[in-house]
Amino acid sequence: MAFGNDFAQTLKQQADIVRIVGGYISLRKSGAQNYSGLCPFHKEKSPSFSVHAARQFYHCFGCQASGDVFSFVQKIENITFPEAIRAVAQKLGVPMPKQAFSTEAEAKDARLRTALLEIHERACVFFQECLRRPEGARAREYLAGRGLNEETIHQFRIGFAPDSGFLLRDRLKSEFPEDVLRESGLFSWKDSNQPSALSPQLKATSDHATADHVRTGVHARPAEQGSATSDDRRPATDDPTANKHRVSGAISAMYSKFRNRVMFPIANESGRVIAFTGRTLA
Ligand code: ZN
Repeated sequence: MAFGNDFAQTLKQQADIVRIVGGYISLRKSGAQNYSGLCPFHKEKSPSFSVHAARQFYHCFGCQASGDVFSFVQKIENITFPEAIRAVAQKLGVPMPKQAFSTEAEAKDARLRTALLEIHERACVFFQECLRRPEGARAREYLAGRGLNEETIHQFRIGFAPDSGFLLRDRLKSEFPEDVLRESGLFSWKDSNQPSALSPQLKATSDHATADHVRTGVHARPAEQGSATSDDRRPATDDPTANKHRVSGAISAMYSKFRNRVMFPIANESGRVIAFTGRTLA
């Protein structure tokens, strides 16, 4: 097991299974300590799924699914047991213990996720800054025309991706390694090599040209993963790095996927930015 038993046990004591299950399915009180609802693990029309508040377990009389809060989250999210522990810890706002990873691969994956969240946060701040700059004037006009006031713009952290595809790259390149930048979904590369996605849900997806949608899947659930389509629009041909850096490092061949767009961050349950949607101003 990847986590100390102590940590899982402590976490389990803090977690209220009724609240956590209730975050996924609708539960009704059906007894002093019992709640019932429609089972999420099999199709049914009358509720045979029961959650016991005092004993902190669930049981389905229809399909016999049963277990504790971790097993529920593991099953409903279709994730591993260590991931379920992490998910419950996150729901409760409990930090994970440092030595929580049993394998190097798992630790590496966790570092990548952390770095991806960090990149998205940094990019969000960058887009917000750009909206306030002179070059953000058209974006501000657009937002005002849509009836969004300063307060709303601030609250939803709406920003602007400048026309230059290199400003964000130059901001981030000294702080994050290339593979992390690649995985972020915020950039495109001029080389023909496909980005090396470590797992399918870490692949960026993009929609049609007028409303790029990049979802990094930092915390994506399987159900949220759209099919990845590649939107490989190239920058203008007068692009300064087009010929100069053809052979040299990948960083120089990298450019922002979002240019001249109003940027809307997408946050996860804990309010951390995990993706962006960009509306073109062109
Ligand atoms: Zn069931």
